[in-house]
Amino acid sequence: MRTGELKVNWVAKYMPLLNEIREELSAKKPLEGVKIGMSIHLEAKTAYLALTFQALGAQVILTGSNPLSTQDDVAEALKDRGISVYAKRTSDEKVYYENLHRVLDHQPDFILDDGADLTVLSHTERRDVLQNLKGVSEETTTGVRRLRALEREGKLEVPVIAVNDSKMKFLFDNRYGTGQSTWDAIMRNTNLLVAGKRVVVAGYGWCGRGIAIRAAGLGAKVVVTEVDPIKAVEAIMDGFEVMPMSEAAKIGDIFVTATGNKNVMRKEDILALKDGAILANAGHFNVEIPVKILEELAVERFQARPNVTGYVLPNGRTVFLLAEGRLVNLAAGDGHPVEIMDLSFALQVFAILYLFENHKRLEKRVYVLPPEIDERVARMKLKTLSVRIDELTEEQRRYMESWE
Ligand code: NAD
Ligand code: SAH
Repeated sequence: MRTGELKVNWVAKYMPLLNEIREELSAKKPLEGVKIGMSIHLEAKTAYLALTFQALGAQVILTGSNPLSTQDDVAEALKDRGISVYAKRTSDEKVYYENLHRVLDHQPDFILDDGADLTVLSHTERRDVLQNLKGVSEETTTGVRRLRALEREGKLEVPVIAVNDSKMKFLFDNRYGTGQSTWDAIMRNTNLLVAGKRVVVAGYGWCGRGIAIRAAGLGAKVVVTEVDPIKAVEAIMDGFEVMPMSEAAKIGDIFVTATGNKNVMRKEDILALKDGAILANAGHFNVEIPVKILEELAVERFQARPNVTGYVLPNGRTVFLLAEGRLVNLAAGDGHPVEIMDLSFALQVFAILYLFENHKRLEKRVYVLPPEIDERVARMKLKTLSVRIDELTEEQRRYMESWE
């Protein structure tokens, strides 16, 4: 069997929530004839989500959400199974955008987006798509931020479900998913020891917390940089050092950005880095670490290992950038662990079903899924773990609702 198929078969075994949904709904085919255009990191877990939509009757058109995160063997395996796939791992943004266009050429009913590139395109150059588009489901923090900005300016044309903002998403995917997969990618690509190193985590949001806690677990001394005073206090109370990037730059061995912001390091910070410093991004696109400034500063640039680029700076020091500054866990790894994506993707299926059933009454706004759906996913997860919990008695319920 080819590697792509093996990868998909492997994840299928560890995605019990998607399997339960398939068992319950595949006979009913609730999405019969519905076209779903997906732009999301194209690897095995995403492939299984696409196949799940197909089992529910949908026609799926799929591309990646980042030029470097597509796994070509998985894309090939999907083509053989009736999914329209337009994707290739590439450093060429032009190819990436061409593929987004090809998905939109199918005039989807719904978009499942990660980072909002496909949705923004349908609101700008490809407004032809809006004629048939009925709703969007967005996977990640940055995508939700962009779509809320569109909504604020009165330019959002369809209802959006912010899947990222469900508790069963960000509490687990952003925190534990990014926490584990970021270190998996940094370690497999550098083969360096983490214990005893000074790790600088930029941003102490849901991703940053996960990255910091796992770095500490690996024995690193963790420094956090933040712009939000409350998150900074939280990082201190969690046992980490907090300081500005201008100071952290001088002492860090490994830097991981997870802010969703741009230019988190300035030119001065890069020039202050120690020889051998490792730079990795686990956040947003390739703008958190200013790759352009690195390129301009470098007197020499070389391939140090697969997915590792060395930059010799004018001061004679060499620093190493992982995965071209794109999110390291997906551009140079397999992304979040399977069980985590099972939770996120169960929410995605419920989000598309919710949009399908409710799009006519929904406004052109960004919505969060109803809390009942979050709770349903949590209960499904507990069931797969054979964990039972207590229930409120009627007396307790009344007591909690009263003011006496
Ligand atoms: P978040 O909003 O919870 O956290 C971001 C944090 O960064 C905030 O606390 C903010 O104050 C801080 N910040 C902003 N600008 C900063 C700066 N200049 N310096 C230091 N800190 C700064 O967001 P999140 O859910 O943690 O997501 C962060 C990014 O990671 C987003 O782009 C998101 O799309 C992406 N993401 C990546 C993965 C992955 O698989 N690698 C998974 C989930 C989310
Ligand atoms: N598209 C942007 C935004 C960050 S993507 C970019 O490429 O820079 C971050 C999202 O990737 C997370 O919300 C997470 O749910 C998703 N993700 C993480 N691991 C994944 C995996 N193995 N397969 C598919 N998506 C994954």
